[in-house]
Amino acid sequence: MKSCVGYAAFESSGKLSTYNFDRREPQDDDVMLEILYSGVCHSDVHWVRAEWNPSPPYPLVPGHEIVGRVAEVGAKVTKIAVGDIAAVGVQVDSCGECKCCSDQRDDPQYCTKGVFTYASPHGYPDSVESEKVTQGGYSTRIVTREKFVFSVPPALHKNLAGVAPLLCAGITTWAPLQYFAGGEAELRGKKLGVVGLGGLGHMAVKLGKALGCHVTVLSSSESKRKAAIDELGADAYLVHKDKEAMKDAQCSLDVVVDTVSADHDLEALVALLDVGGKYLVVGLPPHKLAFKNSWFVNKKRMLGGTLIGGPVMTQDLLNFCAERGVYADIELIKMDAINDAFERMLASDVKYRFVIDIASSKLE
Ligand SMILES: [Zn+2]
Ligand SMILES: [Zn+2]
Repeated sequence: MKSCVGYAAFESSGKLSTYNFDRREPQDDDVMLEILYSGVCHSDVHWVRAEWNPSPPYPLVPGHEIVGRVAEVGAKVTKIAVGDIAAVGVQVDSCGECKCCSDQRDDPQYCTKGVFTYASPHGYPDSVESEKVTQGGYSTRIVTREKFVFSVPPALHKNLAGVAPLLCAGITTWAPLQYFAGGEAELRGKKLGVVGLGGLGHMAVKLGKALGCHVTVLSSSESKRKAAIDELGADAYLVHKDKEAMKDAQCSLDVVVDTVSADHDLEALVALLDVGGKYLVVGLPPHKLAFKNSWFVNKKRMLGGTLIGGPVMTQDLLNFCAERGVYADIELIKMDAINDAFERMLASDVKYRFVIDIASSKLE
């Protein structure tokens, strides 16, 4: 076993504190990373506070935006070597045999036996893995199957903290643009709307711009207008509640990516789509959102959703970001600031993602 120090929640207050545990000894197809940076995702708060699962498996170490240095590889590992900078995202394993897991499909995140990076039963016997469930990246090291470990291209090494959020916020907003909107070949010059400007939304804006789209941010308030346009490079900014402006913008967008995980009214947002437009959701609001078929039928619009992206697509995203110089905008924190960071994130008081500097947090 490999000793590891993490920050875990022990009950549903979700307050994190030090937790010592073991990672499995790397198996033949495993890679062990010494973690350098770990991004802080909204999912982490939902999990530790028992908001998504009423009885999460405690102790629970969250974190699924992980960048680290490879310290050990198993005998059958071929694409990753000791000393490489590599990354792990939201998923760490799957059955490997079903339709979703085939390389052509590259959809293991939809495998019914998918194993996620934390709070997921891992399928290893106690003799191999002493933790009952997977434990995430708010920790000093992680052992993961090679299939779910990604190479971080050298061009990204100058800002590894800004790479970590690509592993969840980045791939989550990249995937719908690839699956449903044709990727760069079809998106260049198209009009993209991004609903919400948190961790996910800011990545959607940056990736949309890098893909050559005209990007409009759709926000619930005026407060982020200047940052959206001056700092993130958005071309336009609309406030949902500004009925006049929303009406003027009807039928003007080709694709909308909706990143909001709170309940919200879709009618005025769907109405922004042109004939044939696509409304793509990646947020997970707690309740059903109502829509009328006529919003879609009468304008040949479609509604789609995606959950992260497969391993092949995730590596493609990292390669794209290396080529175009795309990073997340982050605020770097030490591990012991995480409980305050959760509160600030819930208050949208971060531009746009917290990333934990694991290596200099002196967890050992
Ligand atoms: Zn996430
Ligand atoms: Zn499978």
